[in-house]
Amino acid sequence: MLKTRLLDDFYIYTFTGQEELNILILVNNGKVLLIDTGYPEIARELRTELEKDNLIPEIIINSHYHPDHINGNYVFSGCEFMGSEFYKQNFELFEALNPDVEYIKPKILLKDSQILHYGLFELKFLNLKGHCQDCLVTIIKHPELKNPLVHAADLIMFSNDGKHSIPYLSYDGDIEEHIQSLETLNSIKIGILLPSHGIILKDDNAIAEALKIRIYYLQKLRELGKSAKVDDCLLKDKSLYNQIKLHDKNLKNIFG
Ligand SMILES: [Zn+2]
Repeated sequence: MLKTRLLDDFYIYTFTGQEELNILILVNNGKVLLIDTGYPEIARELRTELEKDNLIPEIIINSHYHPDHINGNYVFSGCEFMGSEFYKQNFELFEALNPDVEYIKPKILLKDSQILHYGLFELKFLNLKGHCQDCLVTIIKHPELKNPLVHAADLIMFSNDGKHSIPYLSYDGDIEEHIQSLETLNSIKIGILLPSHGIILKDDNAIAEALKIRIYYLQKLRELGKSAKVDDCLLKDKSLYNQIKLHDKNLKNIFG
């Protein structure tokens, strides 16, 4: 586990290995708001880390209801859970697929553009679909940040060594919505882009390029349809990409 300090009250915990994930920590008077909990192993390690720092978990926002983001929720069962108003379909599907895991429903349902204040932070939730229907992107402002940190959930994914993952369209994903969501991110002045998986981007050009590469992939996929070969959808050299195998899943999920 790697801890990146953004500000005194603002951290990213990065879990590497097979079940890698970035978890964002917002501190307010010894209590914390977390975005996602990861798989149970990650959640337990996270709980131990917070205990070491005398931080008490208070609120959990789930960026979307895929197992790698929510299966550890029960480790934090005393917290208040919040998630997209569209959480139900994924929640019920994965709850049925993971009978050994105790699933926790969100107590507070977040609508598109809803704002939450937490300590010195202002969080704005955008329901940006495309990866799945219940994906929440969180725009986080803090008086000490010139431009907001954007928690991109799985709309943008990287590897931990900086390779671009191609966009993943889940069974309820959608090409058009995904492009639209990336265009929305493109219209925001982003200070720090934090994907749930992979490297953190702080450079304007790197953020613009990450968006461009993914929009290109999706536009090509839309244009070529079921017969799209992955090489035809890559804007850059193949060596710069990660998770190429997601392409076949996308074809299956979108075109059947
Ligand atoms: Zn994920």
